[in-house]
Amino acid sequence: MHKNSNATRSVAVIGGGIGGLVVALKLIQEGYKVTIIEKQNFVGGIATSFHHGDYIMDVGPHVLTFPTKSEITDEIISIVEEENLIDLPSMSNLYKTYFQGSFFTPGTPISKIFTTLGIGFSFRAFRSYFISKCKNLFKSKFHTIDEYMIASYGEFLYNIWFKNYIKLQFTGSDYSLKNIVNSYPGLSLKSIILIIFTKKSHVALTDNISKIRSSQFNKYPKLGMLFLIQKIQDRITDKGGKIFLNSTITSITHNSPKKITFEQNNQKNELNIDAIIYALPPKLAIQWFPNPLQPSPPKNLAQNAIMVFLFVDSPGLFDWWVINFNQPDLIFFRISQQNFLSKNICPKNKTLLCIEIMCNDNDEISKYEDSKLLSIVLSDLKKIDILNNETIDSKILKFNNFYIDSQMSSNPQQQEIYNFINSHKQEYLMGVLQDSGNSSDSNPSQSNAGFHSAFLNAAEIVKKINLDFTKK
Ligand SMILES: Cc1cc2nc3c(=O)[nH]c(=O)nc-3n(C[C@H](O)[C@H](O)[C@H](O)COP(=O)(O)OP(=O)(O)OC[C@H]3O[C@@H](n4cnc5c(N)ncnc54)[C@H](O)[C@@H]3O)c2cc1C
Repeated sequence: MHKNSNATRSVAVIGGGIGGLVVALKLIQEGYKVTIIEKQNFVGGIATSFHHGDYIMDVGPHVLTFPTKSEITDEIISIVEEENLIDLPSMSNLYKTYFQGSFFTPGTPISKIFTTLGIGFSFRAFRSYFISKCKNLFKSKFHTIDEYMIASYGEFLYNIWFKNYIKLQFTGSDYSLKNIVNSYPGLSLKSIILIIFTKKSHVALTDNISKIRSSQFNKYPKLGMLFLIQKIQDRITDKGGKIFLNSTITSITHNSPKKITFEQNNQKNELNIDAIIYALPPKLAIQWFPNPLQPSPPKNLAQNAIMVFLFVDSPGLFDWWVINFNQPDLIFFRISQQNFLSKNICPKNKTLLCIEIMCNDNDEISKYEDSKLLSIVLSDLKKIDILNNETIDSKILKFNNFYIDSQMSSNPQQQEIYNFINSHKQEYLMGVLQDSGNSSDSNPSQSNAGFHSAFLNAAEIVKKINLDFTKK
């Protein structure tokens, strides 16, 4: 279809996260009239940055998970422009996992972990494993995750490592026995022998990030993710796209002619459009449709985030970027030194530390005052020798439903909503895009990573819209 023939066709994009922005830009490039309606007073959604004095705090994605070379990679470079990107060192060296007082790199062979943790630890782990194996020798069916994991790995390793680890890994998604069994096939005696005598690692014990990250586009916008978002936003508005922020949608008419009514600053607006794209999580998008999916309303599996940003009066606290924790005795599950990625997001000789805490509405922690949260964070950081006596200023940001279930394909409820919305003429659900970090050169089309998927899905939706209008 010729681009000019789209000039009178209007499309509304609901949600101005990276997904909504990219699809809006691509539609404008195809000649459509595009309007973005966003609930917040900023675009970017999860992918955004906040300013605090001279600091720029990135709350969501910190990596452009793209293959090293691809059409999409070229597209992102042309948007951000090469001079605004900085090269990152190999990503596999940037992550560590803290376990029992030691820091491990992803992919560390299990034998090395046991050697590091000492003979006492190894003895307890193996003894507990063998006892569990003997107890469950003839058992083939398990009823709970605890039962299955203890039978597979032993009580000691389960309690000390897996219990918390799998909860973190399955945050916001289907934490069911079936999924756990598929993800963590138990350790057989044969695999134990292999572990002892080879350099084998285990996906759960050492986060197999190294392979993934080595084939990645290792660049980062030197002024943080917001810079990239603003570049896309500028392109949209420069080309005539409209963005309504702070807007509350009050109704959507799905039949032709389609109509969206929304309020912005107490003012009622009406938009007549030809097509609608829902660029937000399926369970949010479904609110504008009459209750079609009874009797099972979508479950909310998302977790809230408390992000404690520390502005530290010292040039660097450790020599890498991220440390993952899964110790219930520490309040956080991840900390990252944001200035490790770009010195420009932080004044010279200072450190910007981001501490992530995950909780749900019912957790005690979600009711804590900021001062209490800060004092626990500081004391935990001192406990593991990350902080000493540096001068620290802080800012705490809280986000609801931040860690989300975004794997549409593995969640039948989300898939159901996706199919339902897409069954409406000229309506398209983009959904929220998953970050698995799995953007690889060998098979870029299989990438699930958030930013990469935003570009892939946007191109797909534009193709569909063009085709649907041709058929009309
Ligand atoms: C901690 C973290 C780290 C991540 N790291 C990476 C990474 O390194 N690399 C990577 O590629 N991806 C990463 N991701 C994933 C990536 O951030 C997401 O996949 C991506 O930002 C999702 O974009 P989206 O536009 O689909 O959704 P969102 O960003 O959620 O956008 C949805 C938008 O819809 C708006 N909205 C909601 N309700 C309404 C309503 N009623 N009306 C109007 N608007 C509404 C929201 O305000 C929001 O702006 C990470 C995610 C997290 C949480």
